[in-house]
Amino acid sequence: MQEKEIEDAKREKLRQEKPAVYDKIIKIIERHQKGIATPIIDIAYSYACNLKCQHCTAARFAKKGRKLTPPDLKKLSDEAHSLGLCQFCISGGEPLIFEDLDGVILALQPHKFHMTMSTNGHFLSKKAARHLKAMGMDKLKISLDDFDEKRHNENRNSSGAYQKAMDAMFNAKKAGLSVVVQTVVTHQNCQTDRLIQMAEFAQKNDFTIDVLIARATGAWEGKHEVLIDKEDAEFLRKAHDQYPVLHRDTFPSYGMNKGCGCVDSTLHITQYGDVTPCVYIPISIGSIFKESLANIIKRGQSIKCFQEYSSLCLSGEDRNFINKYMSKTYRKPLPIHWTEAFDKEDFIR
Ligand code: SF4
Repeated sequence: MQEKEIEDAKREKLRQEKPAVYDKIIKIIERHQKGIATPIIDIAYSYACNLKCQHCTAARFAKKGRKLTPPDLKKLSDEAHSLGLCQFCISGGEPLIFEDLDGVILALQPHKFHMTMSTNGHFLSKKAARHLKAMGMDKLKISLDDFDEKRHNENRNSSGAYQKAMDAMFNAKKAGLSVVVQTVVTHQNCQTDRLIQMAEFAQKNDFTIDVLIARATGAWEGKHEVLIDKEDAEFLRKAHDQYPVLHRDTFPSYGMNKGCGCVDSTLHITQYGDVTPCVYIPISIGSIFKESLANIIKRGQSIKCFQEYSSLCLSGEDRNFINKYMSKTYRKPLPIHWTEAFDKEDFIR
């Protein structure tokens, strides 16, 4: 299938299953042209996890007293809907071990939003997949660090992790969920046959691959040697040309070439209510416990580097951004406050 056909098929599935959400989503292009932010909101509801992965970013967030609750999420969902936003992603931690996962999903009002969940797949039995679908989940992003079983298991510090992730993909597909294989690509593992084999596997099974390039944050804080270079980026672009299912969020999609989508296309909320411009930039631009989402988006849109078009991923590829801003987060309790990261001249006047 070519990229346009893949996108059309996804939209048609949504139109049939959640027509009200489809009506919101098809307005994104027009909103984008008018400069109206329509971010997918990724919510790390809890950092509880059953694995200890080498590249984990969650462990670096400083503990705070107040944590997200379902009533906080209901309030967030109401405001997001009133702003015309249409997509949530539940992440963590590992959502499938959240005791109140059903309450979390319901609080987000899945009939009003396209719902995704990021999981390592460990506990995604056939029954669990069917349950998630019945709760209103649309898509699962299942992590696979390497198409080589041994390497994935080593990275996850778990001997059965690869097989469980594989089983999870097919359980999700059988339950009617869209499946995204989420893989982290470093300079060291980028230009390999194994990534191409993963793309072939995904294409054959109607999955897509979300390529997450490595960031020098979390367990890799300050380790710039893991970052991809221009040749790696070119390799990924060519792999995408050959296998359209292999995707990066900086690649054009659905008729839009947005580049890096910080604030306008993505926002992340930590377990402690802090909002960051993306999962991988640990700089808070506000807290949902203290102010409205609209205010926070407005602040994010007033920061130049998040408003100017960038074909590069700011957090993992743009060396200027990494050296100037990401480096300010190193060795600090995370996320740092926006005033620690940005000066007067970083704001649009
Ligand atoms: S910084 Fe990178 S991961 Fe974050 S929104 Fe931009 S392109 Fe995506």
